[in-house]
Amino acid sequence: MKILKRYLPAFIYVFLICFFACTYLYAKEYKEYIKVGILSNQKSLNLASDKKYYFISNNKKYRLSPGKINIKIKNKEAVILNKSYKLPIEFVSSKCFLVNGKIYRGNIIITASSKDNNSIINKLKMEDYLKGILPRESSASWNQETLKAQAVISRTYALKNMGRHEKQGFDVCSQVHCQVYGGASCETKNCNKAVCETDREVVLYNDELAQTFFHSSCGGHTEDPNFVWKWNTKTPEYLKGIKDDYCKDNPHQTWTTTLPETTIREKLIKVGYKTGKIQKISASGTTPAKAAKEIVIKHSKGTLKLNSYVFRCAVSADKIKSTLITSIKTKNKNFIFEGKGWGHKVGLCQWGSKTMGDKGFTYKQILEFYYPKTKVGKIKYANK
Ligand SMILES: [Zn+2]
Ligand SMILES: [Zn+2]
Repeated sequence: MKILKRYLPAFIYVFLICFFACTYLYAKEYKEYIKVGILSNQKSLNLASDKKYYFISNNKKYRLSPGKINIKIKNKEAVILNKSYKLPIEFVSSKCFLVNGKIYRGNIIITASSKDNNSIINKLKMEDYLKGILPRESSASWNQETLKAQAVISRTYALKNMGRHEKQGFDVCSQVHCQVYGGASCETKNCNKAVCETDREVVLYNDELAQTFFHSSCGGHTEDPNFVWKWNTKTPEYLKGIKDDYCKDNPHQTWTTTLPETTIREKLIKVGYKTGKIQKISASGTTPAKAAKEIVIKHSKGTLKLNSYVFRCAVSADKIKSTLITSIKTKNKNFIFEGKGWGHKVGLCQWGSKTMGDKGFTYKQILEFYYPKTKVGKIKYANK
């Protein structure tokens, strides 16, 4: 009895820890379906299915024969076969849908957040969504291990960013802001295989989903995100940046771009920086990844100092391919920028990952290299 009294508080303590741990693990199931915004503000939409299908509006089900219909969308309503129905409307079929000529797995939802704002949403299983991501975010002809690494990080990224477009009624958009999604039209055998072979696998850090940022080519060293964007987070150790020799022979390793002074000035003014005639542009300071910390612009009205990533995005992220700027020269009325790498340089370097795969590394070794101290784990989807 004495022993029981003595150890009872400890038993209660252990019981409570186990109880909360179980509740926590249970809460870590993830939604199996994702809503992807594929189009916005459409006045008209062509939709087709070669099987019988139906749509739901206002909790009522309306059946349609196989074939193509045109839908007119106006004022939170949709006109289908000359009848008006209240939005949101969800189309359901046992087969794929064709929306404006593009194939999509899953359901199609038309919703309106206001009188003039509507969204066309593709609701589908996460694993099917990834099949429409891989060929757009990677290259279908790349080796299988590299594609598998991409499947794992794209899945992790999508799960981590669920609900990013909640206000618009969907989880993620289909553009580069989230991940580029091409629907079932862009699927390939190799990419689908990479998704299936990594079924439900994600990158975990301390048992949480990691922030699996990725980019095209790092130019020799990946970057700490705190030098790129203000994300008000202490950089976790797996994102601090690593030296990368694997991408050194890729076709985008070095770049040169020539921009007229007037173009740079106009672009800076457009995003709110009052800039006079530009006399000199120079890079100032270096990050641990050897990128420029700041860009200093001497102009007729003064001097402007900008974070190099802000400068790159303001002027042209397509032309100034990275912040690893190695030289800035002036010629006539132009500025000539030279640099290395392509993209924000944070997280996995896709060209380096390709070389690693070609050399025989497995996808888990690739992920371990670019996100040190993380591990690959399998998640559960909630059965709803
Ligand atoms: Zn987005
Ligand atoms: Zn690299």
